[in-house]
Amino acid sequence: MYNVKSLKAEEFISHEEILTTLDYAEKNKNNVELINEIIEKAKLRKGLSHREASILLACENEEKNKEIFELAEQIKKDFYGNRIVMFAPLYLSNYCVNGCVYCPYHHQNKHIPRKKMTQEEIKKEVIALQDMGHKRLALETGEDPVNNPIEYVLESIKTIYGIKHKNGAIRRVNVNIAATTVENYKKLKDAGIGTYILFQETYHKESYERLHPTGPKHNYAYHTEAMDRAMDGGIDDVGLGVLFGLERYKYEFAGLLMHAEHLEAVHGVGPHTISVPRIRHADDIDPSAFDNGIDDDTFCKIVACIRIAVPYTGMIVSTRESKEVRKRVLHLGISQISGGSKTSVGGYAEPEKEDEDSSQFDVIDNRPLDEVLNWLMEIGYLPSFCTACYREGRTGERFMEICKSKQIQNCCHPNAIITLKEYLEDYASEKTKQTGAKLLKEELKNIENDKVREKTAEILTQIEKGERDFRF
Ligand code: SF4
Ligand code: SF4
Repeated sequence: MYNVKSLKAEEFISHEEILTTLDYAEKNKNNVELINEIIEKAKLRKGLSHREASILLACENEEKNKEIFELAEQIKKDFYGNRIVMFAPLYLSNYCVNGCVYCPYHHQNKHIPRKKMTQEEIKKEVIALQDMGHKRLALETGEDPVNNPIEYVLESIKTIYGIKHKNGAIRRVNVNIAATTVENYKKLKDAGIGTYILFQETYHKESYERLHPTGPKHNYAYHTEAMDRAMDGGIDDVGLGVLFGLERYKYEFAGLLMHAEHLEAVHGVGPHTISVPRIRHADDIDPSAFDNGIDDDTFCKIVACIRIAVPYTGMIVSTRESKEVRKRVLHLGISQISGGSKTSVGGYAEPEKEDEDSSQFDVIDNRPLDEVLNWLMEIGYLPSFCTACYREGRTGERFMEICKSKQIQNCCHPNAIITLKEYLEDYASEKTKQTGAKLLKEELKNIENDKVREKTAEILTQIEKGERDFRF
């Protein structure tokens, strides 16, 4: 039975409730009166339930779909302005005991090179990332209690935060590791992680068990209830995601929103971020073997509907997507993207040799970070390396309050200007410096609050004199 407040996976992600929702959405997909009501509700910017949002996702009325896309764009602008936060993934180890059929790190794969970075190697990688200009990382490891125990992850986080190199620093480490115990989540919290990210992959239990035939990840309930344990362990920023292509996207969409509703109902705070990866080619993985692949238009509709349903939740898209698709979804709701990414264990400091490729998936957008930044600015965005909230203690419920009241913009916008200025001073190519200088001038004028504008201008001068690490 569906119970949003239950702590049992099968009750807060009830299969029956999803089927009823999909049936209801299918029956009402051309019910213009109801769709109008939902759009009006969405305009209040307080979000939608999984049932309401599922109707918008199913809607086939061209005119209404146009309104849905316009509303998503407007909500994106209202909550996030034009800033886009940058990050990079860092793979520590690809040893894994699980059998996930869509990932080349599955343990039956005997030919992919298995690598685990030493602390010295991590240092080199992080320095290379700092030299690109990154300030925010997402750590990734396979699940392997022997090769990648929690102590290894904690030691690596300590190493990363401890590296001081020129003007560079990693100021926020997000962590994407396998579902674990409350005790281990406490340890991650104490290590100072930003967001704990764990993709559900699929909310459909039967498919989940088939796609994860072996290893601890086979346990659907343990995996699905991980965010509750993370929050019990004191981590209040968690990141959800599904791997689109594994199951029917409408099913995943409803499940994802039910998960968000559950976290809000039980812990008082919804997900900090939602990621929207699509299945990609990798070593021994052929995406055409999965028959639920979605086209670009459907992908954009999903992003728009998530944006409308949970306006206060950041949305992430990675370099799995092409430049063209990234451009489309940036308009519709994405607030964070990766750039200059390597999806292999190592590869930032020195490129991997061809016969040693340890990538988890093929990167589609493989432009260097500087090129991505220049492109973002040219198409009207303000790239940001901001990590201020976590460092100012604006996390969990406190963060959501500021976010829901839209006050966060008063921090995000000047912080984007400040951190972009740092990037331009320390890492940018000549071309990016020129584009950036013009943009910063304009953006400074766009700060509405006089005091904040003056303070930001003052900080920009201090940055030119060599000072670093300011924030609102
Ligand atoms: S998805 Fe994660 S758990 Fe599954 S095989 Fe890949 S690294 Fe291991
Ligand atoms: S101020 Fe907070 S929400 Fe805004 S970009 Fe910085 S860290 Fe993110």
